[in-house]
Amino acid sequence: MDRRIFLRNLGLGVGAAVTAKDSLAGVISNSKNIIMENYQTLEFPALPFGYDALEPYLDARTMEIHYDRHHRTYFNNFVNAVKGTPWENVAVEKIFADISKAGDAIRNNGGGFYNHVFYWKNLAKASSGPSAELSAAIARSFGSFEKFRELLSNSAKTRFGSGWAWLYLTPDKNLTVASTPNQDNPLMDISPVRGIPLLTIDVWEHAYYLKYQNKRADFVDAIWNVLNWDEVNRRYKEATG
Ligand code: MN
Repeated sequence: MDRRIFLRNLGLGVGAAVTAKDSLAGVISNSKNIIMENYQTLEFPALPFGYDALEPYLDARTMEIHYDRHHRTYFNNFVNAVKGTPWENVAVEKIFADISKAGDAIRNNGGGFYNHVFYWKNLAKASSGPSAELSAAIARSFGSFEKFRELLSNSAKTRFGSGWAWLYLTPDKNLTVASTPNQDNPLMDISPVRGIPLLTIDVWEHAYYLKYQNKRADFVDAIWNVLNWDEVNRRYKEATG
């Protein structure tokens, strides 16, 4: 399939248009994963692996429905929501920084679009593990990797209803763990937890119910087998560089 991929590593800042008083502005302006295209010409981004790539931890049928139905619907609804609005050509991270002005359709569907692109990239069949730099930061912030794992897992397991658990970097460059409801994320100005996301776990029931049914905790424990630490390391380096 000849897909045009618009999620580019541009290496460009978007600085000037970001609200100066936003404490995250400097970090966001350094992001290298910004959608710079008109969303009306943006094709639905490809899944970076096959549906069965993460078996047995994430089953192929769940992956197919999650990507091709849930994620695609968020994407289509987001494209429709921004059409003809001032947000139509604005990088999605910058929309999030002003999401309180953009309305619920852009908030929910923009979050659903972006969070899933982010999630797919932080999953892989195999990866190297946390870098020396990230490991040191995890030890500073949480005491140990095992403590970090416990905190992120608990955040995912205890999120009431639908949402996402995150490892993120606060504006003062500390690693923190928290969850957000619905399709919110730490880049959104309405979020009580704010920072640069590094790693996420989708805890909507659609992410696990076919295989794990009501046992969200088993899904959360299993996902540690397929986290893409190469991508988390890259994000950490980018956010701290
Ligand atoms: Mn999902």
